Amino acid sequence: MDTRTEEFVNVAIRIRPSLNVLEESIGIKVISETPPILYAVNRQSYTFNNIFTSKASQKDVYNDIVKPLVQKVLLGYNCTVFAYGQTGTGKTYTMGSDPKTYSDPGFIVRTFNEIFAYQEEYKDLEVYVSFYEIYKEKVFDLLSNSKKSLQVKGFKIDGLAQVKVYTPNEAQNLLNIGSKNRHVGDTKLNANSSRSHAIFTMFCNVKNENVKTEAKLNLVDLAGSESVRKTGTEGSQFQEGVNINMGLYNIRRVISALSANMSHVPYRESMITTILQDSLSRTNFVTLVACISPDLLDMSETIQTLEFAQGAK
Ligand code: ADP
Ligand code: MG
Repeated sequence: MDTRTEEFVNVAIRIRPSLNVLEESIGIKVISETPPILYAVNRQSYTFNNIFTSKASQKDVYNDIVKPLVQKVLLGYNCTVFAYGQTGTGKTYTMGSDPKTYSDPGFIVRTFNEIFAYQEEYKDLEVYVSFYEIYKEKVFDLLSNSKKSLQVKGFKIDGLAQVKVYTPNEAQNLLNIGSKNRHVGDTKLNANSSRSHAIFTMFCNVKNENVKTEAKLNLVDLAGSESVRKTGTEGSQFQEGVNINMGLYNIRRVISALSANMSHVPYRESMITTILQDSLSRTNFVTLVACISPDLLDMSETIQTLEFAQGAK
């Protein structure tokens, strides 16, 4: 039945600039551009759909990864982009889900600039925004002041705000409000380490005499992938780590089940895959951007990320 020739799952790597200029490229090296292959100190080589080196600009990464998906969303396909990786490797920078700190916008702001340029031209597009996070398997609306978690029925989030937006400024405002509301926990690894998954969704409804489509783009800034043992967490934070790793592990299981066209896709085993179920199917498009550090100090986490990303396909 499948007549689609395009891939459902795309896996990309983005290498952030080194914090130690002397170490750049010691641990990992791009050894081929077509196909994109990365060689790491563990003497393994890894092949991906795209590899962005530390020299790639925000615009380059957006143009290759998200721009084609915006076109798909306007044609009615649900699309999802995950930023995965160790804390401090550039997930939030890539998504641009914390826009205050960045003068060079990430995926979210570039996406709505593009969508609103389309709206300006065609006038037949309605756009709604939701922004929520999953923290310890509970869902919190980042656009609401309420600290209460929301109920999930099937894969629908009960009472989640969907705000209609007409201009890039309005969308930017929602992004700012939401990023202020994100949960941040202190761990030994990084005082600002993000322990939650943040999901920014744009719903795009196109309606004119010829077409009627409804689809959404999910831009997901995942929690840090570093292992529980390394962050040295205990008690409630330990539970958090376990929950986070389960969510990340299930995302990979779901993506690889889709890649392999398996009949059973294990959506129900974590909150994030449950909620994104209607976007994570073979009729839609999924991209994983795995963010890594080039520094030797981070090599063991980098290798775990490369293994995770390669295993997703
Ligand atoms: P994460 O969300 O994965 O924890 P961040 O996005 O917060 O990581 O990035 C960590 C730091 O590195 C931030 O100060 C960010 O501005 C910087 N950074 C990450 N990627 C890049 C990049 N490609 N170019 C320049 N700075 C970057
Ligand atoms: Mg972050």
